[in-house]
Amino acid sequence: MKYISTRGRTKPLGFQDAVITGLAPDGGLLIPEPIPDVTDRLDEWSTLSYQEITFEILKLFVDIPDERLKKLIHRSYAPFSHREIAPATPVGQLQILELFYGPTLAFKDIALQFLSNFFDYILDRTDRQLNILAATSGDTGSAAIHGVKGRERMHIFVMHPHERVAPLQEKQMTSVLDPNVFNLAIKGTFDDCQHIMKALFQDLDFKTAYSLGAVNSVNWARVLAQLVYYFSAGLYVLKRKNASGVRFAVPTGNFGDILAGYYAYRMGLPITKLVLATNENDILSRFFNTGIYQQGEVVPTISPSMDIQVASNFERYLYYKMNEDSDTLRTLMEQFSDTQKIQVPLGPDGKIDTLFGEGIGDKDHTLKTIKKYYEQHNYLLDPHTAVGVYVAEQYLNEKEPMICLATAHPAKFPRAIIEATGKGPGHHQVIDAVMNAPTRCKVLPADEQVVRDFIEKHSVQ
Ligand SMILES: *Cc1c(COP(=O)(O)O)cnc(C)c1O
Repeated sequence: MKYISTRGRTKPLGFQDAVITGLAPDGGLLIPEPIPDVTDRLDEWSTLSYQEITFEILKLFVDIPDERLKKLIHRSYAPFSHREIAPATPVGQLQILELFYGPTLAFKDIALQFLSNFFDYILDRTDRQLNILAATSGDTGSAAIHGVKGRERMHIFVMHPHERVAPLQEKQMTSVLDPNVFNLAIKGTFDDCQHIMKALFQDLDFKTAYSLGAVNSVNWARVLAQLVYYFSAGLYVLKRKNASGVRFAVPTGNFGDILAGYYAYRMGLPITKLVLATNENDILSRFFNTGIYQQGEVVPTISPSMDIQVASNFERYLYYKMNEDSDTLRTLMEQFSDTQKIQVPLGPDGKIDTLFGEGIGDKDHTLKTIKKYYEQHNYLLDPHTAVGVYVAEQYLNEKEPMICLATAHPAKFPRAIIEATGKGPGHHQVIDAVMNAPTRCKVLPADEQVVRDFIEKHSVQ
């Protein structure tokens, strides 16, 4: 399998180089070429365990010997608290795909456990070290820290805005005391953190000297790890319901999770609808409705992990939409960076893509949906999942089961749960343990030079 850039100006890379590189040098995103067709293997796969399906899928995309790959898969799922890793549970007319059994209780654990293990394997084989630098408003940072902690060849530096992330998320990061983990509370906003991160990555001398690595959702390994649960849940539900097609509803921010569903579709999983659900930050639902992709202001919501305006993974989808023509894609992306707006013509049926459904779940919809599922089915949805479920209800079809991705555990968002149901989500032992744990964190000014000095002093060499 080769990885090419959406912008067409990077020579093809193997999987390991693609993972280490992250973003392609020409500014594009790396994509697999060709996309494998697994249609004639689906029957056989429908009887496999989650780990076995993972192995069959990953084998198609990576250049790692089978036995090592099996170990790596085993290690990536070991920290999950559910035997099935990502079980699909029937709730009312829906199937809820629970992706929150990892160490930080959100679906990002699945991808970041894998990414850390891929890094580890590659670094070990090539006798290299990596200093991972990330800026986070909460979720990605804690999942990355839990993936990387305790590894010898990696140090991780995670900047978060001082006193501006949710207390639980802060604790999930700062309670990890392993010596290779450095939490930096930056006296500023999330934008300040991101600004410092970009400046350091753009300084190529610094980046090379300290072998800086990234864990952004543009990394192909993250999308790859997320492909698996579309297949496992899709095949399981198709079989149990004796259906010929299945629908997925995905609460969306950076377009990473739903993009994995799009690849699963392209590989031959019979997905008949991918329902894209956003909160009030609706750049993507507007795009699928109108063809206009235009940046707005980020507004804070009760589903904060979807508070995103520019979706970093969207470029991969747009590349396919532009018939895999990297010149057209490059022109569009340059136009977007100049004007914050692009427009793609609608098809004859007035849609951008009939595979996709789209919709917005605002605060009121989210709270009412949480309340409804709690009262009618005694099932608690977290606010992100509730956005997806609300929009999914507009796309129900009797013959095609609807699988809703549950991206976080409700216990992570007690305030929204109380507001919706009048009651708290109850105790969760992982959260109780974190809230009472000792923490370590360095407070630094929002000053690039200070962060640079800190990394120089604490990097792994
Ligand atoms: C990151 C996140 C999302 C959005 O996923 P994308 O891949 O960015 O679209 C949704 N829900 C939760 C809980 C998340 O952490």
